[in-house]
Amino acid sequence: MAFELDASYVELQEEARAVCESVAPFAAEADAMSTVHEGVFNALAATRLWELVVPASHGGRHEQVDPLAIAVVREVLMGTSCHLDSLFALQGIGSYAITAGGSDAQKDVWLPKVLSGEALAALALTEPEAGSDLKGISTVLSPNGDGYRLSGEKAYISNGGAAAFYSVLAREDQEYTMVLVPADSPGLTVTATPELASPHVLGDLSFDAVPVDSEQRLGDQGRGFDLVLATLAVFRLSVAGAALGLAQAALEEAVNHAATRQQFGKPLARQGAVAEMLADSWAELEAARLLTYRAGELARGNPAAALHHSSMAKLTASETAGRIVDRAVQVMGRWGLVRESKIERLTRQARPMRIYEGASQVLRLGIARALVDELQREA
Ligand SMILES: Cc1cc2nc3c(=O)[nH]c(=O)nc-3n(C[C@H](O)[C@H](O)[C@H](O)COP(=O)(O)OP(=O)(O)OC[C@H]3O[C@@H](n4cnc5c(N)ncnc54)[C@H](O)[C@@H]3O)c2cc1C
Repeated sequence: MAFELDASYVELQEEARAVCESVAPFAAEADAMSTVHEGVFNALAATRLWELVVPASHGGRHEQVDPLAIAVVREVLMGTSCHLDSLFALQGIGSYAITAGGSDAQKDVWLPKVLSGEALAALALTEPEAGSDLKGISTVLSPNGDGYRLSGEKAYISNGGAAAFYSVLAREDQEYTMVLVPADSPGLTVTATPELASPHVLGDLSFDAVPVDSEQRLGDQGRGFDLVLATLAVFRLSVAGAALGLAQAALEEAVNHAATRQQFGKPLARQGAVAEMLADSWAELEAARLLTYRAGELARGNPAAALHHSSMAKLTASETAGRIVDRAVQVMGRWGLVRESKIERLTRQARPMRIYEGASQVLRLGIARALVDELQREA
């Protein structure tokens, strides 16, 4: 039984650390932006990391996209820059429906561009009226002459406005379908999403009878949710990886402060209650890390079968990151509150992780359902 990452994953983390070093000088500037930071983009494009998000058939590093590889890389990237982490991960999140359900022609056109960064990718599911309950979407794909037209609104779409294409979930008759919509399609307009406390490249999309032909289908009619689930099965775990990286960075900030600042004649780190906060944070971080790596190991073989483990990892790691960053602020006292400090940035960035790619409460519903099903089956 192995509890450590294999050497190949440790090497991947080294690869990710190298880009972090080059991005660190402008990480804070990039993390304050809601458009793509050129320096971060160029630094990432100069690496081979995007090889991890496409399959070997189209230039990727692994036969199948490896969820654990993406998670361990995000763990490193997020410790330096949320912007860097998002740019890396979204190439996979936005394009995985092509990998899993696209035609050979779609793969040949788009995946090499995803890999090189020539085309940024985006996944458009959320709508003004439909978030956690995606079955409530109202974007519609309807027949139009020889082809179709797509009408509706999508909101809070990462890479919105920067992406070259969108993988869009829509209703079709009584079913759900996914289609690939190039960003320059007539009738597609992008407006800015409200600025978040933790800035993010986001856009709201409006589809006004956008012409779509059958070549733009991702998979057959009615396969939309299969592709959403396939994407989540690979990438939900990676949010856990990013949350670990954020928590590690927050804990390091707290330790650096507590080890050097003296009060009552000794370092804060030696004061009982502060030591307790540091110890709890380290223990919880290690527990979340083990859960994440184990879920990654399971997901590597069969991502869909391991979805509930990935959900548990995402739930645990993102909630843990929230607690660790909050304790770090407490340990740092007034220095934990300084605007534009690293800990302030981490505090803001931790919060959305408990909402996107499955809010914690919604994940718990799925996890509990899986638990009951499993125990009932065994009974
Ligand atoms: C930074 C960021 C990036 C994003 N990127 C994308 C993207 O690229 N593509 C995309 O499609 N979307 C994206 N989103 C949207 C994101 O997926 C949604 O915010 C998320 O699915 C939650 O939906 P909602 O915000 O509408 O919350 P709601 O669905 O309105 O839920 C609000 C809260 O209610 C609770 N809740 C909801 N349902 C239940 C339930 N059944 N039981 C118990 N509690 C419940 C949860 O606590 C939840 O946080 C992004 C959001 C953010 C913040």
